[in-house]
Amino acid sequence: MDAQHRLDELRRCRRCPLWARATQAVGGEGDERARLMLVGEQPGQEEDLAGKPFVGPAGRLLDHALSEAGIARERVYLTNAVKHFKWEPRGTRRMHKTPAQREIEACEIWLQQELARIRPRIVVALGATAGRALLGGPVTISMLRGRAIERDEYAVLVTYHPSAVLRVPEKSRQQELFAALVEDLRLAADLASVKN
Ligand code: SF4
Repeated sequence: MDAQHRLDELRRCRRCPLWARATQAVGGEGDERARLMLVGEQPGQEEDLAGKPFVGPAGRLLDHALSEAGIARERVYLTNAVKHFKWEPRGTRRMHKTPAQREIEACEIWLQQELARIRPRIVVALGATAGRALLGGPVTISMLRGRAIERDEYAVLVTYHPSAVLRVPEKSRQQELFAALVEDLRLAADLASVKN
């Protein structure tokens, strides 16, 4: 099945209610032969409108972190655990809402298809939702980050989601989390052998 057919199929998905309020489903994108896959939580406001993963503020921070870690974005595959934007209204704005466990589980079929197709060596879970989707249980990032957790076909590294870095109000703490994200990406790149 080619990329357009896969996307059409994804956009017809009605496995959970999230499709109804989103603009469109956002599938993964990147190197189809990537040894390194990055999995975020769900599309945000800009991704929902553009139909592409990691193009908003979090995506720009991720680009910066990838560059600092010596990883070319075009050599990795980027996707999300949940493919439709979950949001709640706040005035005229659409505010991000964390997906529920049942929505993560409903969407798992799509992530599993991507894992089976790309067959990465290393999968980076960006944030707790991605960690939950990949490891099958609650995830505390500070306890799990910095090491590879072996699964049957690949290893998972858990780290902070770029949005979590952006949300930290204190500058010094934000710099700490950004440095941790870069360090984890560097480790993932070393393990996957994808350094520039
Ligand atoms: S969020 Fe996932 S499971 Fe739910 S409708 Fe969208 S693609 Fe389907």
